[in-house]
Amino acid sequence: MNLTHPFLDLDGDKLREECGIFGVIGAESAVNVTALGLHALQHRGQEACGIVTFDGKEFYAQRGLGHVASVFSGPELANVQPGAMASGHVRYSTTGGAGLRNVQPLFADLASGGFSIAHNGNISNAMTLKRELVRQGAIFQSTSDTEVIIHLVATSRYPTLLDRFVDALRMVEGAYSLICMTENGIIACRDPLGIRPLVMGRLGDAVVFASESVAFDVIGAEFIRSIDPGEMVQVDHNGTVSSHRPFGNVSARPCIFEHVYFSRPDSVMDGRSVYAVRKQIGVELAKECHTEADVVIPVPDSGMPAAIGYAHESGVPFELGIIRSHYVGRTFIQPSEGARHADVKRKHNANRAMVEGKRIVLIDDSIVRGTTSKKIVEMMRDAGAAEVHFRVASPPTTNSCFYGVDTPERSKLLAATMDTKAMAEFIKADSLAFVSIDGLYRAVGEAGRNGKCPQFCDACFTSDYPTSLTDNADRESHDLLTLPVHKVA
Ligand code: AMP
Repeated sequence: MNLTHPFLDLDGDKLREECGIFGVIGAESAVNVTALGLHALQHRGQEACGIVTFDGKEFYAQRGLGHVASVFSGPELANVQPGAMASGHVRYSTTGGAGLRNVQPLFADLASGGFSIAHNGNISNAMTLKRELVRQGAIFQSTSDTEVIIHLVATSRYPTLLDRFVDALRMVEGAYSLICMTENGIIACRDPLGIRPLVMGRLGDAVVFASESVAFDVIGAEFIRSIDPGEMVQVDHNGTVSSHRPFGNVSARPCIFEHVYFSRPDSVMDGRSVYAVRKQIGVELAKECHTEADVVIPVPDSGMPAAIGYAHESGVPFELGIIRSHYVGRTFIQPSEGARHADVKRKHNANRAMVEGKRIVLIDDSIVRGTTSKKIVEMMRDAGAAEVHFRVASPPTTNSCFYGVDTPERSKLLAATMDTKAMAEFIKADSLAFVSIDGLYRAVGEAGRNGKCPQFCDACFTSDYPTSLTDNADRESHDLLTLPVHKVA
C-alpha cells in the first residue's frame, strides 16, 4: 500500500469518477426497477455498474464492467435475488482498467448489520482520511473514496446507525449524493452544498431515489421533489419517510456543469429543465457574440439545444451539418489521445450538403482538451466550409473538478494554458467565443453570478471552489503558480 497515494493502485485506478445512483424501497421487483432506472442514467457512467438487493433477511450484490444492458441482461438479472429494496450505481472513470473491486454499490457487514452505499460525487479529503484510517488499522478493499465513509461509519462511537452516519459525513468534505441501505431501510442524502443532484419519487407504494428525474420517467414513477442540500431522507420498510437536516442551513452550490453538459436534457434539475437552460445558453451566446454567418450547426449531441437557442435568437438558419453515429459512446471516455482522435472521426461526419461554401457557426457545450473541436473544425473545412466560427455554450474550462465531474488535470485543459485567441488558432477556427459566466447564470434563471455568494459551484470556470480541497491543495497551488499562459501576439 502506498500511503502517499493511497488511491493510485496498480490497476491505474483514478480517484475522480462520474456516476449515477438509483434506489428503491417497497417495490415488488426492486431489482428490475433498479436495472431500468440505471439504464436511464447510463450517460452518467458507462464503465461499470452494480446492484445490491435486500430480501428482508440477506443482501445480494451483482456487479460488472460494462453497460447496464450487458451486465444486467435477462439471465444476470435472474441471478440477483429478488427483494423489495435495491440500490444501483453506474460508474465512469477515464483511465482504463478500473477494477471490479471499485464497482458500487459497496457493501460491508458492520456491527449493526449489513450496509450498502452508492455514491455520486467525490470526497476531496478522502486521501487524508484514508491515511489516518489505515494508520489506525483499517483494511481497505477498494481504491474508491467512497469506502472511507464505510470505515468512518464503522468506527464511529455514536449509538444509532443514523447518528454514526451523520458523524461520518461531518468528517468528509466535497461532494456526495448517497443512497445507502441497511436492514431497516434506505437512507438518501445530499452533501450540505448539494453539489451533486438527487431526486425522490413514488412508484405505486414504493419510494424511489435517483440522480436525475429522467430515471423516473423511464420507470413510470412520479417525481416528488429534489432532496435538499444537506438533507437526509430515511424510508423504512413500512414506507414511513422521515427527513433530517443535520448540517444546519448552508447556502447551496449545486454544480452548474450538470446544466451545461452532464445531465440528460430531459431531466429537471433543482426545478429547472436542463433542455430549457441549454437552449437559453444558446440565446445568451447569440446576444453576446454573434457573427455574420449563413448557417448554425450543432456539434451533436451536446451542442444541440444551445444551437437551437442560438439560431432562434440570431435568426440564422439551423442545420444538421454534422451527423453523429449512435454506435460510438462518449469520446471523452477514451483514455489515450490517439484513441480519442480516432473516436471523434468515427463518431461525427460532415453533412457536406449543408456545409459546402457556407459561413458556419459551430456550437458545442464545452471545450476541455480541444481534441473534439479541433477535429470538428478540420472536418468542416474538408467539407468545403467558407468560414468556421466556433461558439461555446459555457465559459472557458480553466480548472479541474474535484467534485465528481472528471475533468483532466489543469495542464491538459486548453483554456488553462491559452487565451481565447490562442485557442482559436489551436483549433484553427476563424473566430472563437465563449458565453460569459454571467450569461450562463442568466440562462439558469439568475440575474447574473452573485460574486459574494455564488448560487452554483462553477469552480471549473472560476476556480472558486466551495469547499477546502485538502487532498489537492498542494498540487493545485503548485499548478496555479507554474502553468504558463501562452498569448498570441
Ligand atoms: P475535448 O475534446 O477534450 O475538448 O472534449 C470536449 C467535449 O467533451 C465537449 O464537447 C463535451 O461534449 C464533452 N465533455 C466535456 N466535459 C466532459 C466530461 N467531464 N466528461 C465527459 N465528456 C465531457
